[in-house]
Amino acid sequence: MRPFLPPQCRTRMASDVKNHLDKEFSIEESFQPFNQKNDIFNRSLWDEKINAKNFFTSYDLTSNFRKSKGFDHWDYALRNASWHLTDVVGESHFSENGTVEGFTHYYSLQRPGPSTKAPDLGSVENTQRIKKAAGIFGAGMVGICELDRRFLYSHQYNRKTGENPQLVLPAGIKYAVMLILPMNYELGRTFPSALSGTTTGAGYLQSMGCANQLAQFITNLGYEAIASMNDTALNIPLAIQAGLGEYGRHGLLITPKFGPNVRIAKVLTDLPLKVDDPVRFGVKEFCNICRRCSSSCPARAIPDSDPQTVAPNLSSLQGITKWTVNAEKCFKFWVGMNSDCAICIRVCPYNKDYTKWYHRLGVRLARGPFRRLMLWLDHLLRFGTRKDPKDWWGTRVWVWVWVWVWVDTWVWVWV
Ligand code: SF4
Ligand code: SF4
Repeated sequence: MRPFLPPQCRTRMASDVKNHLDKEFSIEESFQPFNQKNDIFNRSLWDEKINAKNFFTSYDLTSNFRKSKGFDHWDYALRNASWHLTDVVGESHFSENGTVEGFTHYYSLQRPGPSTKAPDLGSVENTQRIKKAAGIFGAGMVGICELDRRFLYSHQYNRKTGENPQLVLPAGIKYAVMLILPMNYELGRTFPSALSGTTTGAGYLQSMGCANQLAQFITNLGYEAIASMNDTALNIPLAIQAGLGEYGRHGLLITPKFGPNVRIAKVLTDLPLKVDDPVRFGVKEFCNICRRCSSSCPARAIPDSDPQTVAPNLSSLQGITKWTVNAEKCFKFWVGMNSDCAICIRVCPYNKDYTKWYHRLGVRLARGPFRRLMLWLDHLLRFGTRKDPKDWWGTRVWVWVWVWVWVDTWVWVWV
C-alpha cells in the first residue's frame, strides 16, 4: 500500500534519511534521545509534581461517574471496554517483570520463526508485499523509513520497580515500518468526554493487532521483527520520515488521508525494504495562519507562537526547534476531567471525514492561495464543534421521534 496522497496535492522530498528531519526541525548537535522515564505518564509514578490519582482511578468503574453528558456509567463502561484487550495483553507480564507492552516495552507475543529465511525478493518486491499485508491487518496507511536511532528512547522505564535501564534493540534492525490506524471520526467529535476516550482505546486495539500480526508475518519469513506502539521509539518523527504526513502546531502528525485523527504503530525489522520519501502538503503553512488548536485548548498547553527551541519541561525533547505542547499542563487537564482529551484533534481543520469528496478537495485547496479562504470557511461552517454525546448514542434522536409522533397523534385527534 502506498501512502495515500492525490498527485496534485503532494510534494515528495528527497529521501536523505537525516536531512529531512534536520531541515524541518533544526536538530542541534546537543539533541539527546528521549529518556522514557520522563514521559508524562511515567512521571506521574515518580514525580510528585504530577498528581494523576484521579485519572487512573477513573478506570476502576466504581466511582467518578457524573451527570454531565458523556461522563455517565454507560460512557465509562464503553471507554474501558475499548481498552480492555490492550490492557490485558500489555500487562500480561507486569507482575513478573514490570513491563507494560506497547507502552513501556515492545511486545513479546511473537512465536519463533523458522531457522531458514524465505527468499529475498529484493527491497521493492519485499516492500510491496509488506504493505499489502499491513493493509490486510488494518493499516489505513503504511510508510517505511530507515530507523533514525536519534528517535529511539535512550532508556526504558519499569513502572513496577522504577528501574530505568538503557534500551537495547536486537542487532541488525535497520527499518521501521510505520503504520497508521485511523480513529473513529464521529466518536472523536464528542471530545472532551469519557465516551470519546473510546475512540482512543479502539485505535490502540487496532494498532496492537496490526503491528503484532505484521511482526509475526515477518518473523514467519525468518527475519527479525519487533511490534511496537508508544514504546521503544518516538512515532511522529519516524512517521514523517516515512512519508505519512506533516507535523502540526498541536504536536501531532497530520496525515493527508485521515488528518490528525490517527494512532501510529510500527514494526522494526531487518528485512530489506525500500524507504518512502517524506511529503509536504501545506500543513506548516496552514498552521502558520491557524491557531484553532491553541485557542481551543482549555489548558493553554499549545503554543500560539512560532516554533521554539526551548522545551517547556523535562517531558519534551531538548535541542530541536518545533511547536511543543506543554505536557504538564495538558495532563493536568486530563486528570481534572478523569479522562483523556483530544479537543485539539477535534477542532483541527484537517480533522475531516475524508470519505467525502469535498473534504479531499478542501485539503488540496488549503495548500495553495485558497488557504485563508479554506480556514474562513471551516470557521463559518462550524466544523470542529463538539457533538453532544447523547446524539452519538442516538438517544436524543429517539426523544425527538417520540415527541414528533406524540404531537402528530394529538393533531390528528383534534383536527
Ligand atoms: S489534549 Fe486537550 S489539553 Fe491536551 S493539548 Fe490537546 S486540547 Fe490541550
Ligand atoms: S488546528 Fe490549525 S494550527 Fe492547530 S494543528 Fe490544526 S491546522 Fe495547525
